[in-house]
Amino acid sequence: MVGVTTAYYLLKDGHQVTVIDRQPDAGLETSFANGGQISVSHTESWASPEAPWLMLKWIGRDDAPLLLRLRFDPQLMAWGLKFLANCTHDRAVINLKKNLRLALLSRRLLGELREDTGIVYDHLTRGILQIYRDEDAYQIALRNAAVLHELGSHNHELTAQQCLDLEPALEARRDRLVGGIHTPDDESGDARAFTQNLARICENMGGNFIYDTSIDGLSVEAGAVTGVATSRGEMKANAYVLSLASYGPALVRRIGIKLPIYPTKGYSVTVPTNGHNGAPTVSITDEHNKIVYSRLGDRLRVAGTAEFAGYDTHLNEKRARSILGHARAQFPGAGNFDQAEFWTGLRPMTPDGVPLMGATRLSNLYLNTGHGTLGWTHACGSGRTVADLIGGRNPEVDAADYALTRF
Ligand SMILES: Cc1cc2nc3c(=O)[nH]c(=O)nc-3n(C[C@H](O)[C@H](O)[C@H](O)COP(=O)(O)OP(=O)(O)OC[C@H]3O[C@@H](n4cnc5c(N)ncnc54)[C@H](O)[C@@H]3O)c2cc1C
Repeated sequence: MVGVTTAYYLLKDGHQVTVIDRQPDAGLETSFANGGQISVSHTESWASPEAPWLMLKWIGRDDAPLLLRLRFDPQLMAWGLKFLANCTHDRAVINLKKNLRLALLSRRLLGELREDTGIVYDHLTRGILQIYRDEDAYQIALRNAAVLHELGSHNHELTAQQCLDLEPALEARRDRLVGGIHTPDDESGDARAFTQNLARICENMGGNFIYDTSIDGLSVEAGAVTGVATSRGEMKANAYVLSLASYGPALVRRIGIKLPIYPTKGYSVTVPTNGHNGAPTVSITDEHNKIVYSRLGDRLRVAGTAEFAGYDTHLNEKRARSILGHARAQFPGAGNFDQAEFWTGLRPMTPDGVPLMGATRLSNLYLNTGHGTLGWTHACGSGRTVADLIGGRNPEVDAADYALTRF
C-alpha cells in the first residue's frame, strides 16, 4: 500500500510512474489482511518506558501478545539496542508526536482520495473504541488520551455503559469492561482492497504496473542509482522509491545503506459474518489482549500479536487460534468462526516506530518504508510526503522527522 499510494501521488503530480512488484498483484504481502484500522488515536510507538518490562514478563509464554524468540540474530540485536534507546519517556513523546502529525495528515488525505476517486474498500467512519478491562491501565490510557486530544486526535472518555450504547455487540463481556475511549474521527477499511483498487486507478491515470518481477539489486554510479536489476532485466528511471517493507534492508545493504528495519510477525483472523448480527460496526481495540477488530463488509477482521522471529513467515496455528478464541469470547454471535481464515504478515518495524521517508545519500534514491504497525494509518500521508520531496516541494510534515539520518 505504501508503494501504491506513492505512485498515486506521483501520477497526480504529472510524473511517469512504473511500479515493480514480485507478486502477481498489488497488496499481497504485508498489506493483505491487516487489522484494518486508520488509528490516528493509537500512534504510540511500541518503544515505551513499559515495553522492556512487558517483554521480559512475556518471555516464554506462547500466547503472549509479544513473543521474543531468543536466538543469535545480529540484525535483531542491533535493532534491539536502538529500540531500547527509544524506551524513555522523552523519546516516546517525540515519536508519538511525529506519528500523530503524519497520521492526521494521512487521514485527511485518505478522505480526499476517496472523494476524488470513489474508491471502494469496505470502509467505515464510525471511529475506533478502545476498551479496557483493568482500572490501572484505563487510568494511564486516559492520561495519554488527554495528551492526544490536545495534539489534535479528538477523543471521548466513555463509561462501560456508554461503550455498550455505542457498540451493543460488546454485551457478551460486559462484566469485564471498566471503560473505554472513543475517537470518532478514526476509520477502518480493507487495506488489500484499497491497495488493489488504487493500483487500478493508478493504471487508469497512466501508471505502469509490472508484476511477477523481483527486484534483485541496484546499480550505483557517481552517487546516484543508474538502474534496477530485476528478473526481467534492468530498468531505468530518473528517481527511485524503495517501498519493499521488511525486504528493503537486504537490498540496499549491498550498496552501503543501512536500514534499521526488523520484521515483526503479526497474525489476523477473518470471520465471515453473513447471517449473523453480533459483529461490531465500530472498530474496537481491546487493550488488555492487544487485539483489534474491524468490520469489513460481511467479514470481521481480528488482528494482533507480535513475534520477533526473523523472516520466518510460517503460520503458527496456536497463535492464530488464540486470537480466534478471544474473538469468539468477545463477540460470540459475530459470525461463522469455523470458517475463519488465518493469515500472518511481517510488519516492517523501525526501532522508534516512526517510518523512514525521504532522501538517502544517493541523490535519486528515496525511501518510503518502515511503517511497522501503522502502514495503513500512514499510507496516504507518506505517499504525499515522498511525492512532495521528489517534486522539490515542502511537505506538510517536517521531512527531517522521518529521515534516515536520525539513526
Ligand atoms: C497483523 C497485522 C496487523 C496490522 N494492523 C494494522 C492496522 O490496523 N492499521 C495500520 O495502520 N497498520 C496495520 N498493520 C501494518 C501495515 O499492514 C503495514 O505497515 C503495511 O502493510 C506496510 O505496507 P508496505 O507497503 O510497506 O508493505 P507490503 O504491503 O509488504 O508491500 C511491499 C511490497 O514490496 C514487494 N516486494 C518486496 N520485496 C520485493 C522484491 N525484492 N522485489 C519485488 N517486489 C518486492 C512485495 O511483494 C510487496 O507488494 C498491521 C500489520 C500486521 C502484520
